[in-house]
Amino acid sequence: MPRRIIMCFSVLFLFLIGSVNGAATPAVLQKDDDHVSHAAFRHPVIIIDAGHGGIDGGTSADDLLEKNINLAISQKMYLMLKSKGYAVVLNRNGDYALSDDNTWLKSRSRHLKDLAQRKALSEELPSEIIVSIHINWSKKEKSHGPVVLHQREGKSYMLAESIQSSLNTMYQTDRQVEWGKPFYLLNYVKKPAVIVEAGFISNLQDREMLRSSRGQKKIAEAISAGIIYYLSVL
Ligand SMILES: [Zn+2]
Repeated sequence: MPRRIIMCFSVLFLFLIGSVNGAATPAVLQKDDDHVSHAAFRHPVIIIDAGHGGIDGGTSADDLLEKNINLAISQKMYLMLKSKGYAVVLNRNGDYALSDDNTWLKSRSRHLKDLAQRKALSEELPSEIIVSIHINWSKKEKSHGPVVLHQREGKSYMLAESIQSSLNTMYQTDRQVEWGKPFYLLNYVKKPAVIVEAGFISNLQDREMLRSSRGQKKIAEAISAGIIYYLSVL
């Protein structure tokens, strides 16, 4: 049910973009969707990729599942950016696997179908940047703090630096961005994309931040601030 809503939104969204860029009539721009249409026209489209979902829980610790934290942070980011007038799309708005929506890729790998579906959505929409939200894990319990992974490309690097800097300030850490060489999304998405590892679920302090709604809000605010700064200097 939720993913049907997302798809409906995608179609509506594409309609609005098409109206703005193509033969837009004043009636379209001046009706109820005026705010959305203008936002889509003035600002680039930000895709928030909420990592994992459904059968794919991602990493975990205690009763905490990465997929749920990713979704909570992503939903908060969506509302924050939308409230500031940015055109933003969230690709998962509930607990389900995006691989279930992928009926076009002939592969037995659910994991590959999931990732390919995320990539396809970034191409279906007039996306400017893709920000994928994940949580880290390490066997070293002391490993902590945010790490932003980038493509081997300048804009992705700049976006990663901006988000990393904002998260470092919030976490009071000094971690560096990394090239996400092995990651499908970073290799195959053509627009600037980053993977935000928003903290370590294996670290006690990070875990308390990731678990609480207040902590998730702080993380969402820091990532959103990094995105806004990147867009303002581009
Ligand atoms: Zn993950």
